[in-house]
Amino acid sequence: MSANSSDRGSVCVFCGSSSGTQPEYAEAAVELGKALVRRGYGLVYGGGSVGLMGRVSKAVFESGGNVVGVIPTALEPKEISGESVGEVVVVKDMHERKALMATKSEAFVAMPGGFGTLEELFEVITWHQLGYHDKPVGLLNTGGYFDQLLSFIDHSVEQGFISPNARKILKSAATPAELLDAMEQDIVNGASAGINLEGS
Ligand code: AMP
Repeated sequence: MSANSSDRGSVCVFCGSSSGTQPEYAEAAVELGKALVRRGYGLVYGGGSVGLMGRVSKAVFESGGNVVGVIPTALEPKEISGESVGEVVVVKDMHERKALMATKSEAFVAMPGGFGTLEELFEVITWHQLGYHDKPVGLLNTGGYFDQLLSFIDHSVEQGFISPNARKILKSAATPAELLDAMEQDIVNGASAGINLEGS
């Protein structure tokens, strides 16, 4: 694969450090990784080879895409993170990790995961809402995994806690292809925008 196979920049993927109970989650992680490379994107992720994180990073790496894992010192030991593929950047702590992951990517995608994934997803939505960045945020709703979360978010809009405008920050789709189609124009528009953690 040519060196410019990730020439459109990178997409930051948040996903489970577990694989979940259904095989479709791991299948979707592999499909997402391949779709990113096909569309010219590399991967920025949390480092390590455990769970869906391992699936998506290996899929990007094996398809010839650029992989950057950003891992805090405390999570680095192999028994916690597993053996990573691609480049691994070791940072001081979780705050530095999330800031670097955000700086290095053009867009964010969350796929099925647990508390870690949810926290990372909501943080980048909040940063977008506050004007810290203008990068698209997508939710890969594999097998309807996030249906209740999406219903809750709509409930929160109805109850006046999330503005209809802020609701639009999060795009969701059932498959990687549909999600990346929905995000692609925003990626192009936001491609040159950086991230300013002090707000705009
Ligand atoms: P969770 O959804 O709770 O499994 O957490 C997944 C997210 O938290 C990932 O996107 C990572 O950034 C981070 N994370 C959790 N566990 C690990 C681990 N063992 N190694 C590296 N990152 C992890």
